[in-house]
Amino acid sequence: MRFLTADYLFPLHIAPIKEGVLQLSDDGQVITIFNNRSEVPQKKLEVFEGILCPGFVNVHCHLELSHLLGELPKQTGLPEFIAHIPQKRGAEPFKIQQAMQKADTMMQKNGIVGVGDISNTSDSFQVKQKSKIQYHTFLELISLDEKKAETVINNGLVLLEQCESSASLVPHATYSVSEKLFSLLKSHNSAEPICIHNQETKTEDELFESGSGALFEKLKQFGTISVSGKSALQTTLAKMPKQAPIVLVHNTYTTKEDIDWAAAYHTQLYWCTCPKANLYIENSLPDYSIFDADKLCIGTDSLASNDSLSILEELKVVQESSDFDMNTLLKIACKNGAEALGFSILGTFEKGKIPGVNLITSFTKSEITKLI
Ligand SMILES: [Zn+2]
Repeated sequence: MRFLTADYLFPLHIAPIKEGVLQLSDDGQVITIFNNRSEVPQKKLEVFEGILCPGFVNVHCHLELSHLLGELPKQTGLPEFIAHIPQKRGAEPFKIQQAMQKADTMMQKNGIVGVGDISNTSDSFQVKQKSKIQYHTFLELISLDEKKAETVINNGLVLLEQCESSASLVPHATYSVSEKLFSLLKSHNSAEPICIHNQETKTEDELFESGSGALFEKLKQFGTISVSGKSALQTTLAKMPKQAPIVLVHNTYTTKEDIDWAAAYHTQLYWCTCPKANLYIENSLPDYSIFDADKLCIGTDSLASNDSLSILEELKVVQESSDFDMNTLLKIACKNGAEALGFSILGTFEKGKIPGVNLITSFTKSEITKLI
């Protein structure tokens, strides 16, 4: 049995507690919380300076792109960035494995206990299976060619069969999936969590609203794009299953009007921000004031568009560009992400959970120790 206490305890399902005590079983399960250190025999207390919070949940990562660290140019805008990925993606299999292993270890050291990870291949399955981190794998499908829709989903189903972590089939982005493939994905889904890259670039809305812009020009050769006169989000969400929790990733250019429309249309939406990747690729950030903070979660994206996989570093960027207090920031980093991915034992210090414990000694310097 362990009794952990610090200057503040952030259980996240209840308000922060000054000098609160967290009681855990030897295997890290939450037994109870004490509001006061005097309720526990002093010699049993492990006292730390700083704050204690649950392990972080990284809602959006692409482990299999880890070997692209430092390979892609910064601030080129998304259309250029995605054009570079296929050229750079190939590498010796052992280098890919080594980079993923390193990335998984980096996440553990940075206090991450749960990850929503995108896979286009089976490359990362073994690393994820052996890891202490709880993974949900999003098997991502891409194709604007209607004729290839059946083949693409069948390939996805083969990967689903091979993947030993929890997994679901998902569309890559609003602009890279044909009507047919969207419809096959919708009929396949039986309420498992899914995700989609949404409004990461301004040209994405232009593409759907008026059939023009840089992204439209890059993509029109690959298939038919359904110009709808509506925003990317409003066009695409209508093609996705209503019963599944959906993580919308990036949302850099999402408007208040889109958010209000989406909240009325779908009841289980989560908005995942990846601020450092947004700065890397597009050099812009979402307007955090327009989102429901209880539905905001956070991801690192991949090492192709980031120099680290640290939720604390991502949070710092959000803090600098929002009015969120520490409790809200930590909910974004832990509780909301666990809910989005269906990780029922992670995210808060509620009795019975095994959420991991992070000690943050300096938020501004990203000083963190994973205690459990
Ligand atoms: Zn991504």
